[in-house]
Amino acid sequence: MTTAKPLNLLIIGAHPADIFDQSGGTMAHHARRGDRVACCVLTHGARVHDAVISDQMFHQAQVPEAQALERLMQERADVKAQEVRQACALLGCEELYFLGLDDAVLLLSEGAVKQVAALVRKVRPDVVLTHFPREGSTNTNPHAIAGQIALYGMQLAASVDPGDTNPPHKVSQTFFFGTGGAPLPRDVWGAEGGYYNDVFIDITDVVKDKLAALDALVSQGYGGAYARKRIETSDGAFGGAVRCAYAEGFIKMNAECHYHLPVTEHARNVAAMSDHEVMARSSFRHDD
Ligand SMILES: [Zn+2]
Repeated sequence: MTTAKPLNLLIIGAHPADIFDQSGGTMAHHARRGDRVACCVLTHGARVHDAVISDQMFHQAQVPEAQALERLMQERADVKAQEVRQACALLGCEELYFLGLDDAVLLLSEGAVKQVAALVRKVRPDVVLTHFPREGSTNTNPHAIAGQIALYGMQLAASVDPGDTNPPHKVSQTFFFGTGGAPLPRDVWGAEGGYYNDVFIDITDVVKDKLAALDALVSQGYGGAYARKRIETSDGAFGGAVRCAYAEGFIKMNAECHYHLPVTEHARNVAAMSDHEVMARSSFRHDD
């Protein structure tokens, strides 16, 4: 049984572009259904993939002195924040929080955890989407650290904290951004005793909106050719894994409890198709 009440979602990404390439289609679906979709960007991201800071300066003989560089980074952070606002609006999401952490070295710090906890108590989400806390090397991967900050933040949010007058809040379910690539784990065999992408959202109907959102992330270099390649290779691979054209993959944190066995319409539709019909369905390419 799914609840008929609107859902309250909070999506927490490490860098400005992460929430869009990992979950832009899912955001669009929930915004269209009338759910509350709040987005949180942990770092300003001015060092990561920025068109001026990390691209133009890469080939310069010298970069500006400290003060000038800091000023420029602030300017670039503002540019990136504006792009994030625009991308969110294209997906129908208006509620946006920038925590402003430095993306130089993202660490699991008490300060960052407290900021997330305060946001969780304020937004009071049913569902949190965030990075998988064991992505990559776990300890030095900024996405994994962001996922850990989010997890600790949710734990702390479940109790009071002096200075925050909002009451405690518990999150119903957490979905971690799926891990992709060639060995995309998609079932209990792919998990090999570990985790696998166990929830997929078919985003075929909103893939153009996601593309428009990625196109807004100009300073990140995510627009244009990159956005198209990314959607084909990542969302296309996720889609192929579950027999649709484009999907976003997630790893759910908590086991689910149902009254009846959960079998999706999608699974029944695919089971009723021939091999060639399934191939045609998952081979659909949006024409852009
Ligand atoms: Zn990132």
